[in-house]
Amino acid sequence: MLANQLGRRGVRTLLVDRHSGPSLETRALGVQARTLEIYAHLGLVERALDLGKRATGANLWAQGRRTARVPLGDIGRDLSPYPFLLILGQDDNERLLGEALRSWGMTVQWNTELVGLEQEPDRVTARLRQPDGTVREVTTAWVGGCDGAQSAVRELNGVAFQGAPYEHVFFVADTQMTGPMVPDEINIYLWRDGFHLFFPMRGNDHWRLVGILPPALRRRDDLTLDDVIPSIRREAGAGLSFQRCTWFSTYRIHHRRAERFRGGRCFLLGDAAHIHSPVGAQGMNTGLQDAYNLGWKLALVVSGGAGPALLDSYEVERIPVARRLLSTTDRAFAVVVSDTRVAGLLRTRVLAKMMALAMRLGKVRELAFRTISQTGIHYRSSPLSETLPGLPDTAPRAGDRFPWLRLELSPNGPSEDLFRRLDDTRFTLIMIGQPAPPGGMPCLGDLLRTLEIPSVPANDRELARARVPRPAYYLLRPDGHIGLCGARLQAAAVTRYLTERLSLGIHTA
Ligand SMILES: Cc1cc2nc3c(=O)[nH]c(=O)nc-3n(C[C@H](O)[C@H](O)[C@H](O)COP(=O)(O)OP(=O)(O)OC[C@H]3O[C@@H](n4cnc5c(N)ncnc54)[C@H](O)[C@@H]3O)c2cc1C
Repeated sequence: MLANQLGRRGVRTLLVDRHSGPSLETRALGVQARTLEIYAHLGLVERALDLGKRATGANLWAQGRRTARVPLGDIGRDLSPYPFLLILGQDDNERLLGEALRSWGMTVQWNTELVGLEQEPDRVTARLRQPDGTVREVTTAWVGGCDGAQSAVRELNGVAFQGAPYEHVFFVADTQMTGPMVPDEINIYLWRDGFHLFFPMRGNDHWRLVGILPPALRRRDDLTLDDVIPSIRREAGAGLSFQRCTWFSTYRIHHRRAERFRGGRCFLLGDAAHIHSPVGAQGMNTGLQDAYNLGWKLALVVSGGAGPALLDSYEVERIPVARRLLSTTDRAFAVVVSDTRVAGLLRTRVLAKMMALAMRLGKVRELAFRTISQTGIHYRSSPLSETLPGLPDTAPRAGDRFPWLRLELSPNGPSEDLFRRLDDTRFTLIMIGQPAPPGGMPCLGDLLRTLEIPSVPANDRELARARVPRPAYYLLRPDGHIGLCGARLQAAAVTRYLTERLSLGIHTA
């Protein structure tokens, strides 16, 4: 994702991986709405939707009986063009991103391992072990450490990875099986000592199973699915029939966060920066969005359009996201795995019904969608976010992802998906109830697109729904988050914002 974001902005990267080729394991499964919005800008969303399955509902089971169903099909209607969770394996996601990378003329250099780093004020020298075993030195301006939980970039920079392992051991299996599960939907089996999740996968009777190992099996390292089947049958019912298992793995989960996401000219992204329990399908998505946050900033700095100070905002914005993620997944994980009697009863008797009831409430549904889909992530406390006086408290504020709206963008024109009109390689100035400034904005030149929202009843209704007042203006960063907003646009305020907060102007880095 980072190389794609840089490539489409004309920045070349050298992308190395110590593995011999792309991973063939599905690993992460859930693609969140915010990731799909980013895929749309990359031209990948249609392929992803064709390959994946939309999660239409989650069925909760306890002691062999289905106790509740939570509808998920369009849980985020009016909040995102993709109001659902897409089930699509990490291997497919990596393949799509790899194909996009080739369209920018870049490929991954496999069998190439980072073994050393030396930083100087204006460059980094990386030592790479090549497929033939020799080590070559490469000098570069910046390094993106997207190298997973054992990150060499993190270790070579001496950045601590604080946290601990959970005591539970997970298993994951890709199987062909039949049983009482509701087809094409997520099935969650809650039991006294834990849970099993069944995700529908592409193909007939193809299910991904995730669960925690019974304590008696935790210390064995020669397990196969057959060892786990008796405990799955005990909790999920005897009617399960397993035909095939294409992948079985066990893994211990840690919850850890890098104390810094940056060491000089090196950045940490994805699992290199944060790991946590898989509850909520957040891991892969959070990593992709780390890259989306850093990509436009790095490209601006490399091209000389902005000063290096802009890059300080990467960890300022993403560390709080990781911190919140670790604490929410910790809490959710504690509920689903706690083996006290009370927790067991809560899980099997109360949780399912409570969830189904709560999700009938519009406000709860909206909050759940915003949180899980990652569309609710904001950078309100970032130094790049400035809300000027004059906007009501209920209006979208600087740092928020600008809301998804359907608007008539030309008088008497059709209703259009605003996100399709945003060019995420540029800034966008959205003008509401006032004309666009003649001649654009100094500092931005061709980096700015302006949208004037016509004052027609359909637009007024849509703006009111998202609590966008009139008059107002919103300057969106390339990643769709609001940088600056206010009531009446004053060119001087915008110029000050661009030069002082974004360090825009001509620089060398
Ligand atoms: C069994 C399993 C199941 C999972 N299930 C889920 C799930 O259901 N939902 C979810 O959200 N997440 C899940 N995850 C987590 C998810 O897979 C990760 O969050 C995601 O892979 C992180 O991506 P990444 O690119 O940051 O790191 P990785 O995918 O770990 O990629 C790091 C890459 O860096 C390369 N590398 C490492 N060191 C070097 C070096 N020194 N030089 C060169 N290359 C190097 C590696 O070869 C690797 O290709 C699961 C993980 C596992 C292992």
